[in-house]
Amino acid sequence: MKRILITGGAGFIGSHTCVSLLENDYEVYLVDSFVNSSPIVINRILSICDLNNSNLGKNLKVFKGDLKDKVFIEDIFSNADKSGNPINGVIHFAGLKAVNESVLNPLRYWQENIFSSLNLVSVMKKYNCNLLVFSSSATVYGKESSSPIKENSYLNPSNPYGNTKLTIEKILNDLYDENSNIWKIACLRYFNPIGAHTSSLIGENPVGMPNNLFPLICNAALDNNTKLKIFGSDWDTIDGTCIRDYIHVSDVAEGHLKTLEYLNNHKTNILKMNIGTGLGTSVLELIETFSRVNKVTVDYKFTSRRDGDSKEIVADNSFSSSLLNWIPKRSLEDMCIDGWNWKKNNVNGF
Ligand code: UDP
Repeated sequence: MKRILITGGAGFIGSHTCVSLLENDYEVYLVDSFVNSSPIVINRILSICDLNNSNLGKNLKVFKGDLKDKVFIEDIFSNADKSGNPINGVIHFAGLKAVNESVLNPLRYWQENIFSSLNLVSVMKKYNCNLLVFSSSATVYGKESSSPIKENSYLNPSNPYGNTKLTIEKILNDLYDENSNIWKIACLRYFNPIGAHTSSLIGENPVGMPNNLFPLICNAALDNNTKLKIFGSDWDTIDGTCIRDYIHVSDVAEGHLKTLEYLNNHKTNILKMNIGTGLGTSVLELIETFSRVNKVTVDYKFTSRRDGDSKEIVADNSFSSSLLNWIPKRSLEDMCIDGWNWKKNNVNGF
C-alpha cells in the first residue's frame, strides 16, 4: 500500500482527494493546521468510508500542525521512515487562497504560502521523498491569455495569491533542475472547482463571507432577502456576463489520483497541467442551471464590473486528459445538485 501525505487535507479539494485516495486503497497522512478548516471534516471523511461499508477509514492518520514549523514536518517523515514504511508521495494543498485577502495583506500570503512550501520540499528532499503533486491555480495565467488556455500560455498573475502560486511552481522548477534524476512533480492548475461529495458530508466551507460565485449563489438561494450581485452585464460574451470553467470537486480529486498514478509509473518529470472541463459557462447560465435543477429561486442584480476580472477563463484540458487518461465525468447539473445538497444540509457549515 502507498502512503501519501496530504497537506491541507481538511480543506475543500483536500478532503475530497483524501476520500478518493482512501477509496483506492492508499494510506493517507492528513496534515492540517485547521486554521481555515474544521476538524469535523475528519469524522465526515470517516463516515463516507463507513457509507461504502468499508473499513478504509483505518488507513487515515491525522496530524495537526503548521507547515511553517519544520520540526513538525520532519517528525512525520522521520517517524514514517523509522516504521519501515516511508511516505511515498505528497499532495500539497495547504496555503491561503482568498484573492481579495491576498491584495489586502500580501506579506501574509508570501509568508504563509512560500515558507510552508519551502519547508515541505526541503524535508521531502532530506527524506528522499521524490513525488509531489502541487495545488496550483489558473490564476497563474495572464489576463491577456485567450481561452481555451493552454499550459504554455503567458504566465502573469494579477494578484499576490496568484504570484505565490507561480513562485512555488518556479521553486519546484529549480528543485527539479538541480537533480532531474530524482523528482517526479506535477503542478495542477485548477480552474473553478465547485459542487460537493454526493453524500453531502463534505463540501466547500468558506470562513467568513464567501467571495466566489458558487457559494454566493447558494446563499442567495437559501435566503430570499439576499440578492446575488453579478459583476457586469456588458462583457463581450453570449449574454454579457463572464465565462468560467466550472469543474466538479470530485472530478478534481480523481485528477489527483490519476496524477499520482502517472507520476508513480513514469520516469522523473515536472509537469504543469490544467485541471478543468474545457467547457465555458456564463454567470447567468450557471444561475439558470442551478435554479432549474434544484427548483429554487436565485435573486440577482447587475452591478459594475469587478476590478481585475477577466471576460473568459476556460481550460484547454487536452494535455491532462490525454496524459492521465482522465476526463471529468460530472456535468454542470451534477455540480449544482451536489453543491446545493451540501449547502442545504450544512447551512452553517461545520
Ligand atoms: N461573480 C459575480 N458575483 C459575485 C462573485 C463572482 O458575478 O459575487 C462572477 C465573477 O465576475 C466571475 C465569476 O463570477 O465572472 C466567477 O467568479 P469567482 O470569484 O468565483 O472565480 P474567478 O473569477 O476567480 O475565476
